[in-house]
Amino acid sequence: MPKKYHIETKITPLELDFIYKFRIERGENCINCGKCTKVCIYEVHRRGRDGDPRKMAQPGTVSCRNCFRCIQECPRGALEKSLDRDFLNIGGSYWKPDMFVTLWKQAEDGKVPVTGAGYRGPFTGPGFDGMWTDMSEIVRPTRDGIHGREYISTSVELGRKLNHLVFDENAQLVSKTHPTVDIPIPIVFDFVHEKLAPNVKAGIVKAAAKLNTFVVLSANDITPDMKGDIKNIIPVVPYKDIDANQDLVRSVRAVAFEHDGELEKSLPAVIEKVKKLGNVLTIVRIPATRSVEDTVLKLAQTGAEIIHVIADYRGTEINTAGGEKPLLSRDVIRAVHLKLVDERVRDEVTILFSGGIAMAEHVPKAMICGADLTAIDIPLLIAIGTRLYEEPEKILVFAEGVESLSVNTVTQRMVNLMGAWHSQLLEVMGAMGIREARRLRGETGRAIFYEEIDADTFGKLFKKSETVSL
Ligand code: SF4
Ligand code: SF4
Repeated sequence: MPKKYHIETKITPLELDFIYKFRIERGENCINCGKCTKVCIYEVHRRGRDGDPRKMAQPGTVSCRNCFRCIQECPRGALEKSLDRDFLNIGGSYWKPDMFVTLWKQAEDGKVPVTGAGYRGPFTGPGFDGMWTDMSEIVRPTRDGIHGREYISTSVELGRKLNHLVFDENAQLVSKTHPTVDIPIPIVFDFVHEKLAPNVKAGIVKAAAKLNTFVVLSANDITPDMKGDIKNIIPVVPYKDIDANQDLVRSVRAVAFEHDGELEKSLPAVIEKVKKLGNVLTIVRIPATRSVEDTVLKLAQTGAEIIHVIADYRGTEINTAGGEKPLLSRDVIRAVHLKLVDERVRDEVTILFSGGIAMAEHVPKAMICGADLTAIDIPLLIAIGTRLYEEPEKILVFAEGVESLSVNTVTQRMVNLMGAWHSQLLEVMGAMGIREARRLRGETGRAIFYEEIDADTFGKLFKKSETVSL
């Protein structure tokens, strides 16, 4: 049995102003009785304003779990909770304000956030929110939960695999096996197009190394101080410039190329060139445009090892023709997966998927739809206080003071976030009775799609009513 993968989390608060759903404020009528310090188990209320232990300090809103107990118990009604204006404005139709608060909390302590007042939101929504996993095995939590006896592996394998083995008449293996790389979580970081402060970039690379996963970076963004973690970096290199980047390609475990029509034709030659330099995996990055599954199939048939399908950051396909409703990420992945299954090449190629992976549960859901693993970027930036606005266009606003954060703080916040996501992945897999992450791939039989049950339940009913003559 492989060694249990453990992510070392550590409480790492950030002294940056971030958003909260409700801001707790202490009014002038507070008599400093200290009752709220006793009733709040999350230590939101503390003494020590201006260094004076007699006075109550400003509430630490970020730790509040919305149980309302302090408000009910304050003898002077001095505490007030109000919806934060920044909270209402952040994000957009996909990146909901609640996600920011959740990701921020997860980066702070690495734990799965608990909502004191329970979940009161809708139980369905667009994209991954319209998909539920079959948790029927949850009835055996002590046996199968994340602290249970049975080992649950979240590792996945990257690389090309053989469909079948061929032996010669002397029973000697004729098939040429391909190198593969195992990573312990089905998540890699993808920062090819983001302009980041040097400390943030260094922190991301260190986090990828600590987690034993990868970060995808443009070759130009790799600096000499990253040399120690080079095995955890996947550089994106123009495929025509492999010769000029020979040393870099030799030093890494995988290299990525952006897809274009010419690469598609010359892929076998490009892969051969890379293999001459070393045991290096190749990744083709392709935007999730309409019918991307046809291109993915061609790439798989011409020997691609790993194909990274990149959807829009809001969880839809990219560049939909005018007026057409864009396909949702989960439907793009399903189309890619099923196309490869139909053509009997699914097991040969690794599908890495990114675009709209915003919360921990999106990882297993993307895998259930057919991805082997996922790539993320925005959640890691939210972990260090970055705000995202969807309208009028994607705007990332880095927190003031982020460029002065220590690399260790950036790293630990991202490790914490992944620790929280890893715990949730284990919970989902344990509850589904799945022991290996790679078995999640394409397991749509273990998921319920809202639109399908809605159509099954009410579709016929409404169809009938339309034809009823009055
Ligand atoms: S319980 Fe109310 S009055 Fe007492 S310290 Fe807290 S806020 Fe002030
Ligand atoms: S609402 Fe609950 S969690 Fe929040 S500060 Fe008051 S007692 Fe603490």
